[in-house]
Amino acid sequence: MVHFYTETISGHVRRICGNGDVCMYLVEGSDRALLIDTGYGVGDLRGYVEGLLDGKPYDVVITHGHIDHAAGAAQFESCRMSPLDIEIYEEFCSLERRRAKVDSCGHPDFKDVVPEDFAGVDASVMRPLADGDVFDLGDVTVEMIAVPGHTPGMMVPLVVEEGIAIFGDACGVGTLIMLPHSTTVERYRESLLRLKEHEGRYAIVLRQHGTCASTKRVLEDNLELCDLVLAGKDAAEPAEHNGAPCLRAAKTDPATGRRVDGREGNLLYLADRIR
Ligand SMILES: [Zn+2]
Repeated sequence: MVHFYTETISGHVRRICGNGDVCMYLVEGSDRALLIDTGYGVGDLRGYVEGLLDGKPYDVVITHGHIDHAAGAAQFESCRMSPLDIEIYEEFCSLERRRAKVDSCGHPDFKDVVPEDFAGVDASVMRPLADGDVFDLGDVTVEMIAVPGHTPGMMVPLVVEEGIAIFGDACGVGTLIMLPHSTTVERYRESLLRLKEHEGRYAIVLRQHGTCASTKRVLEDNLELCDLVLAGKDAAEPAEHNGAPCLRAAKTDPATGRRVDGREGNLLYLADRIR
C-alpha cells in the first residue's frame, strides 16, 4: 500500500508525494486538469488523482521515460510522452527493475508495498508529445518545452499563467547528462539556450527530486558549465552515478554535495560525450 499526499504550490498547481524520492505535479484548471508524471508506478496513483479531481477530465503527460517518472503510465488509458523516449520507457520501467529499485532504495514510502501495488508496463498507452504542445485547462494553460539532454525526449512543462517552469530532471543541482541515452554536452547546451528564450515567462522553477525547487539561476549555472566543459576549463571532478564513473563539472564539497563556490546548478557528464 502506498499513501499519496499533496502539497499546494500555487492556485492551480499541487505536488503529489508519497512515491519515494520523486514527486509528480497536478495542474488543475476550471475545465480540465493535467497530471505531470506518474512516479514509479507503485500504488494506485490513478485512483488517488481521480479522487482529487472529483470527476473533472484530465490528461497525463510524462516528462521523460525514466523509471521514476514514467513507470505508472500503464495505469492510465493514455499518456503523452515524446516518442524519442519510448525505448527508454520500455527498457527502464520493467516490473523487474522497479521491484529491484523499490526493494533496494529502502524508502519509507515503500515499506508496506505488496506485489499487487505495481502497475504493469504498456507502451501502447503512449501518445506523442512535442515541443510547443499546449494543454488548455480552462483558466490556465500548460505548454511543453523540449529540452533534450538528460534524455532525448525530455520536456519542461510551463504553467503559463502562473509563471511556473517544471524543470524536473532537465536542469538541476546535478543534471545527469552521462546516461547511455543522454545527449552530448554540446547538444544539451543548445537545449538550455532554447529554454533560456522562455526565461521571461516564469519566475518559479520546480524540480521533482531533492528540495523539488530551484532558483532561476540554476539554468544560468548549467549553461555556464556547458561552456566551461566545451572549453576544457571546468573542474572535471571525478564522480560516479549508480557505480558508473563520470565527471562533475563544478567542484563540490563531499560533506554536503554542494558546489564549493556557493552556486546552485551542476552537471555530470562523460569525457567522450562532450561533442
Ligand atoms: Zn530522469
